[in-house]
Amino acid sequence: MSLRVLAVVLPLLLCGAGAPPDTPAPGPVRVIGSQGAGCIAGAVRLPDTQPGLQTIRLSRSAFWGHPDTIAALQLLGRRAQESGLPDIYAGDISGPRGGPLRGGHFSHQMGIDADVWLDMIPPHPVLPPAEREALEPASLVRPDGRAVDPATWRPTHITLLRLAAGLPHVDRILVNPAIKKQLCQESLASLGGDRAWLRLIRPWWGHASHMHIRFRCPDDQPACVQAPPPPPGDGCDATLQWWFDQLDQPPKPAPAKPAAPPPLPAACATILSAPAP
Ligand SMILES: [Zn+2]
Repeated sequence: MSLRVLAVVLPLLLCGAGAPPDTPAPGPVRVIGSQGAGCIAGAVRLPDTQPGLQTIRLSRSAFWGHPDTIAALQLLGRRAQESGLPDIYAGDISGPRGGPLRGGHFSHQMGIDADVWLDMIPPHPVLPPAEREALEPASLVRPDGRAVDPATWRPTHITLLRLAAGLPHVDRILVNPAIKKQLCQESLASLGGDRAWLRLIRPWWGHASHMHIRFRCPDDQPACVQAPPPPPGDGCDATLQWWFDQLDQPPKPAPAKPAAPPPLPAACATILSAPAP
């Protein structure tokens, strides 16, 4: 192989065909596309250790996002600390330029989605990054999926979820249906009637040990496709019961061939391939 050919091929071999550089795309912040197919330029990285917050699994996770996303997570850490909670653990946000994350994590493509672990069993001392690799946050949900697990469920989970719902620019927060059900029950009993925040807490499969915080498209990002808002009401109704009814249905056969992920918007090609600054 000639040196000239090697110069072209070697970066592809090292990075994997089409893999974007591991730096943010330069320029002003641009958020393009939708959660399932999008990208971001001008992303910033969540620092690994902040007051009340630690990033975990640094070798496997991605912590890049829109500046508002990063600021909101830092605010969540500070508010959690002020509320006496243990440090919160931040997981995937997005890659430095967005696009699909490795491992099939397709809903974190534009820097406006963030996973925060729900582990609230203290203490959470500040760990060196290498020790954060081995953390395995426990599920809050019973194996049958019908209720939270009393062995891991804590009142502090309500505090954390309520703080998250009160962050600026939150579109919705996805948690396991059993967690939503528990919030509905406990808020009736003990939250003094303030149920408005429950509207943003939405049930979804999985999400038994972490919440997925989805922020709204920033106002100055016309290429960011905003999903419709959650319906009015606290969601503690038949739409929540639907999820539990599904547990009683016979399992559906898996599709013969998994659906291909949707293509990225054309404007993302430039962002994903722009040379590092
Ligand atoms: Zn997520």
